[in-house]
Order: sequence, then structure tokens, then C-alpha cells
Amino acid sequence: VQTVSIDVFDRYESDVRSYIRSFPTVFHRAKDYHLWDVDGTMYIDFFAGAGALNYGHNNEVLKRALLEYLSEDGITHGLDMGTKAKGEFLEAFQQIILEPRGLSYKVMFPGPTGTNSVESALKLARKVTGRSTIISFTNAFHGMTLGSLSVTGNRFKRKGAGIPLSNTFSVPYDSQENGIDGIALLRRMLDDSGSGLDLPAAIIVETVQGEGGINVASLKWLKQLETLCRARDILLILDDVQMGCGRTGPFFSFESAGITPDIVCLSKSISGYGLPMALTLFRPELDVWNPGEHNGTFRGHNPAFVTGTQALKQYWTNQKLTDQTEQHGRTIEGYLSDIVESMPTLRGKVRGRGMAYGMECGVPGLAEEISHAAFERGLIVETSGAQSEVVKLLPPLTIDEVGLKRGLSILADSAKA
Ligand code: PMP
Repeated sequence: VQTVSIDVFDRYESDVRSYIRSFPTVFHRAKDYHLWDVDGTMYIDFFAGAGALNYGHNNEVLKRALLEYLSEDGITHGLDMGTKAKGEFLEAFQQIILEPRGLSYKVMFPGPTGTNSVESALKLARKVTGRSTIISFTNAFHGMTLGSLSVTGNRFKRKGAGIPLSNTFSVPYDSQENGIDGIALLRRMLDDSGSGLDLPAAIIVETVQGEGGINVASLKWLKQLETLCRARDILLILDDVQMGCGRTGPFFSFESAGITPDIVCLSKSISGYGLPMALTLFRPELDVWNPGEHNGTFRGHNPAFVTGTQALKQYWTNQKLTDQTEQHGRTIEGYLSDIVESMPTLRGKVRGRGMAYGMECGVPGLAEEISHAAFERGLIVETSGAQSEVVKLLPPLTIDEVGLKRGLSILADSAKA
């Protein structure tokens, strides 16, 4: 049987490749929360396509909808045309997600990925307000294209731009530990004409910073941020690319804080099947776009609309998934707390919300060592944070309790190894 050797990536692919370094094998098949490589080794997946597979790999219900669509020669391109698949998605999103939550947003398809959504949000905020400055937070991650990189906090990633990333200003994110209140600081700087900080167009924020190390903003802090924005006529952009689609429990991660952002970015799990898809939502009165002002070839992948619609119907017409996510979250927290307590040498800290969890390791390099050891034992788990100091857990939300506990036990063994 002819197979693919891992050398092919070393030989032909740019050094920029990354996940193959964390998980050095050639993956081949995947189902629900399992992956298999070409040698037949099975792995439990606590990474879920970097949060793009909240409903697991090849989810049976979504797969059937996709196969049926393809068998009828459904349209497969991603042009911004009127299609049945797109119309059905828009109706389902309105009826299942927006209306029951009392939310009124226009929907825009900005391009295939999360960074496209962020770019469109930044452009729209600047166009609406006529202002240029955007405020972001330390350790934020919003994407790798120039606009989204300009609001990303990671110095190493910013350097890749090769030019100064301007018109942005970053303040400390909420944290119970750093002792600096970013919102109070921002308020003071905006009041002080000597600070040099112009009134911004928008503030962009994640409710939980995924790439930044699973830093969890308190609900109170998020509410204070909304209050600041309202008082100063600053637009609030909520980047729910990673924490949306149920990762923290509710469909939108900001629901728990009782806030209503002006603009919302969604991607990753919105297609439900790992297919590229992104949405930008904004208050209807912000719809100042002129036709064609933000276009592109892949602005709405039709097969992704099909799986996305099916995912909304399957998982968001009742509370079940949200309840299970919260329950699984407590199981994850219990296991991680046990690891940290039984191993003081880790100097570990546990934090998270819903099923986005992190275990910070106080010893440099240790989180990566644990991730490697877990891979050797059949668990895919990534690290995050500026120094890759956090073991980051993003299991599919649909994982069963047996799979979840098996994965957590492997993690515990790996930490103790
Ligand atoms: N925003 C957030 C919060 C993200 O986590 C990511 C991806 N990790 C992005 C934006 C960028 O999305 P993409 O990689 O699809 O461009």
C-alpha cells in the first residue's frame, strides 16, 4: 500500500509550517473526537481543528446533509451570488440564533476565514465613525493579515508584518493578577488631552483569549467595557471567532455577560464541518457599505452553508449542547485542578469557561513537553500563550463523557511523566 511519508513536508513545504512540529505524523482519517494517522494509530482530539470542529469530525448528521447536497449537484463555489443554500442559512441563523436572543444584526460574508471577519469589522468601524484608531488588548489574537495583526498582541507574530502596524493601541486585558485595570487606564487616557490618544473608532475584544493563553475576562469587566464604549460613542467589536458557536456554553460567548456588541466576528465552527466560512454581524444602522466595497471570490462557500444550516438546526434549537458543555467544563476543571494540586512542581494554574480550558505551567517549556508527551500517548492537545506556557484544551463539544475522561487521564499521565 502506498502511503505518505512525513519527509515530504520537510522536503517541499516552507519552514512556516507549524502544527506538524507539535504533532509529527501524517493524519489520514477522523471521526467525532478521534483521528487516525496513516500507520493506523488512533488519537483523541482535544484540539478540534483549532476550534473549527465544535461538533466533531465528520459529524454524521452534517455529513449526510453535505452528501445529499453534492449528490444533487449543489453549487460548490463561494461567490457572493444568491443561492438556495445561502438563503436557507440566512433564514436559519435569523430564526434559530438571532431572534430568540432578541438580537438584531445584519449579516455579511467577509471571506473564508476568521481574519477576513476581523478585517471587515475594522474597516466598517473606521468607515462608520470616520476615526482611525482601534483599541485592542495585551495578548489578544485576531488574525495574521495586516489589519487583524495590527490588533494582535503577540510581538513575534507582529514582527512578521515587516512594516510598522499603526493606528492601534493596546491596553491590559482583564486579569485578576496583573493589578492593572485596562478599562480605568483607557478612561484616564481618553480624558487626558495630553495622552496623545485620539478617540478610537472601536475597541476589539475576546471574552476569553484563546491564543493568548485562555485568559478569561470576568463578566463584570466585559460589562464595564460595554459601558465605556456606550458612554464615549466607541464601537465594540466582539471577536467570537474562537469562543463563539458554543465553545464557552451559549452560542455567543458574550451572552453570559449580558452585553450587545456593535459588531461580532464569527468563523471557525460556524460551518460545523471544518469548511472555511466566516460571518460579520453588525447593528443594521451600521450598514454603510456600498455594493462591492468588500468583495472576494470565496465569500460564502455553498457546501459550508449547507453544513452550517444543519448544525444550527441540530444543536441550537434547544439548551442541550449548552448544558452539556457546562457540565463537561466542570469535569475538565476537576481533572486539571487535581493535576495542578498533586504536582506542585508544575507551578500550575487552571482557568477557562465552558469547554475552553487552559493549564498554565510556571516552568518554562513544560507545557510544550506535556503536549508532546500527550501526543506520544495518543492525545492531541495544543499549547497557547505568548511563551506557549499554557496547555490548551478545546475538545469537540459533542464528545461523550467516556472520551472526555479518557483524554483527561492521558493528560494527567503525561503531566506526571
Ligand atoms: N480571532 C480569533 C479570536 C482567533 O482565535 C483566530 C484564529 N485562531 C482568528 C481571529 C483568526 O482566524 P483565522 O485563523 O481563521 O484567520
